[in-house]
Amino acid sequence: MSAESILIVGSMAFDDLQFPRPTPDPAKPTKLGTSFRDVIGGSATYAAMTAAALAPVRAIAVVGDDFPESVLEQMRARGVDTDGVQRAEGKTFRWSGRYHPDLVGRDTLDTQLNVFADFRPDLPQSYRQTPLVLLGNIHPALQIQVLDAMDSPRFVMADTMNFWIEGERDTLDRLLGRLDALVINDEEARLLSGEHNIAAAAKQLLKSGLDHLVIKRGEHGALYFGKEGIFACPALPLADVADPTGAGDCFAGGLMGYLATQAHIDDGAMRRGIVHGTAAASFCVQAVGTGGVRQLDEPSLSSRVAEVYALCRIEPEALAERCAS
Ligand code: AMP
Repeated sequence: MSAESILIVGSMAFDDLQFPRPTPDPAKPTKLGTSFRDVIGGSATYAAMTAAALAPVRAIAVVGDDFPESVLEQMRARGVDTDGVQRAEGKTFRWSGRYHPDLVGRDTLDTQLNVFADFRPDLPQSYRQTPLVLLGNIHPALQIQVLDAMDSPRFVMADTMNFWIEGERDTLDRLLGRLDALVINDEEARLLSGEHNIAAAAKQLLKSGLDHLVIKRGEHGALYFGKEGIFACPALPLADVADPTGAGDCFAGGLMGYLATQAHIDDGAMRRGIVHGTAAASFCVQAVGTGGVRQLDEPSLSSRVAEVYALCRIEPEALAERCAS
């Protein structure tokens, strides 16, 4: 089956990023580090650039008059339809974050909604029948508005983050019941479910009617909870992590891109899709901003997918011998 189209809504952003210089002893970080301002980011940017390696993508977002047209051109060159990206008067969404010395934990220093504060998604007619929808991390009210404007998509997956779980809980609850799949990180799963244990959190979240729940665990990989059981996928161990920003969005983009090639989205497709998402996220973290994801195309993604499969392979004979001894 050739790939079906995916509609992706989310943020397009300028990110200000701070990285403390890593030290061998994480308990003693040096204050000196590297900072980057005005890095192109946003959940829609990362997810759309990634998914477009596998399937046609239609993007919905808003940017301000300060956002470079060249980025939209780069997205179009990758096969992203940007007709649904509005340009509004004012400043583009801005997020700033500071990473911990382990380059895993991070603190949000500031979130400025700017043009997203008054954004009303206006779906081009041609977008309404898109079969797959990725509601990337953005205000849940906007995620609902996009879903309302769609003409019965066959698969809807959403992402969110603590900013919205803490600030827009009721709206988020209204969205959850309308999803096929939710993809969030472990901290968000705990916050959303009120359960500290991840398996208990998953059990709680699946009660909202989801068929598929994916919990991202950064360098520890991802856990999948579905109707037919649990699947664990490791992350590729990389020695050259530069910037984890957007890894979660690239993961969702890679997963969704793979699902768009599948006639049936069942447990097996989700497992294979998670391997694709994991491989996609590994490109993202290797450069600052979208530098890594811009290196990703279908052949390079396929070879990383093979690396992830190789990570999990166990020779049945060897396993049988060990169990017997
Ligand atoms: P990730 O590292 O996958 O969680 O994604 C980071 C990206 O999400 C950054 O490029 C930010 O611009 C964007 N982002 C951060 N906070 C928010 C938010 N509250 N809503 C939407 N996008 C956000």
